[in-house]
Amino acid sequence: DSAFQHPVCVAVEIAGDGPGLPLASGRPDHWFDNDGQITKRPVRAMTLSALAPRPFEHLWDIGGGSGSIGIEWLLTHPSLSATTVEPRPDRAQRVRDNASRLGVDRLNVVTGYAPDALHSLPAPNVVFVGGGLSAGMLDWLESHLATGTRVVANAVTLETEALLITTQARLGGDLLRLELSRPEPLGPRQGWKAGYPIVQWSVTL
Ligand code: SAH
Repeated sequence: DSAFQHPVCVAVEIAGDGPGLPLASGRPDHWFDNDGQITKRPVRAMTLSALAPRPFEHLWDIGGGSGSIGIEWLLTHPSLSATTVEPRPDRAQRVRDNASRLGVDRLNVVTGYAPDALHSLPAPNVVFVGGGLSAGMLDWLESHLATGTRVVANAVTLETEALLITTQARLGGDLLRLELSRPEPLGPRQGWKAGYPIVQWSVTL
């Protein structure tokens, strides 16, 4: 029974036969109750990789949606903390519910619009912009965040993509275009169906 004093063995013992939450970021979308506003699994996996959490870091997750980004950030390590900002009260409540159900009720959820809702918050080490991306938002982040803060922003429209391209030209950092396809029926066979390309900008200020 000394084996059962090892934490890994205890975890295996209590896991039972139910569905287990995977350990890696990019968990299946169905784990996050959502109304369609969710960063889908493969893009979320690459986004968490770009956010690159280190122990004790604090995240601002702007544009909470289902909360999947802030939640996966917190699931990475118990020392991590996060605040999610989401203007729609129904979504903010959904973020809270998802966070508690997945064991990370330490997620701080603020109902409000960024950047207005950001002024009073403790400073972050890392910022993700998954909603509300605008010139005003980027200007605010540039003038208020400390040097060394990491920022990752995802754009799906031509307008926000253009914004990220001009901002990268000014501030540097990396652009990445994620183009993903899945097979769908095409007559009696299958063809690749492309999702909207996502342009991702990552920078250390
Ligand atoms: N990353 C989320 C999905 C984001 S969808 C997830 O994985 O679930 C974009 C969200 O941004 C929407 O819920 C929308 O209400 C929110 N949003 C729009 N403008 C915003 C702003 N100015 N500040 C904060 N959130 C905003």
